[in-house]
Amino acid sequence: MPFELPRLPYRYDALEPYIDAATMELHYTKHHQTYVNKLNEAVAKHPELAAKSVEELLKDLEAVPADIRVAVRNHGGGHFNHSLFWKVMAPLSGGGGGGPKTLVSRAIAKSFGDFKKFQDEFSKAAAGVFGSGWVWLAVDENKNLQIVSTPNQDSPISQGLEPILGLDVWEHAYYLLYQNRRPDYIVAWWSIVNWDEVGKNYEAVTE
Ligand code: MN
Repeated sequence: MPFELPRLPYRYDALEPYIDAATMELHYTKHHQTYVNKLNEAVAKHPELAAKSVEELLKDLEAVPADIRVAVRNHGGGHFNHSLFWKVMAPLSGGGGGGPKTLVSRAIAKSFGDFKKFQDEFSKAAAGVFGSGWVWLAVDENKNLQIVSTPNQDSPISQGLEPILGLDVWEHAYYLLYQNRRPDYIVAWWSIVNWDEVGKNYEAVTE
């Protein structure tokens, strides 16, 4: 079964004015679709991988045949990262913004002091990514939360971490609306974080 673009859980214009419809449509139908296509092209060379999920491939890149390892890392990473990214955002009318609730809220307080300190640290990491990459809130093997950044389409799941929230800071994610002003994009993005989904992700990996 080839990999497929997941359904976008809202319309292209649903996250306006924080993310514009043109960016969302291009990002989903062109960028994410290309990662899916190129991942499928790579995996097609090794039919023995057909039953593997993208998570399984990324969690053990060393087990991926050497001739497609870079392609799986980049395009599999791109597919996995964007699939998570779409789901951890929501329009204001659909529960976006605000702050974390219940268990993940307590875990954030435990690891970072309070939500504001977490937000500042995450925003600083996002602003500090040089070139193209991502910043993540991830659960480590001891069930603690960490803020990590990854270059290109590398994914924290390849480092033994379970990402529960991620922010794409590639220029393709913000340039049409924000041009070079990545910090403005980061500030805006907090208004559309889907904390219910982040909480679900946290509970799924810490149960
Ligand atoms: Mn992207």
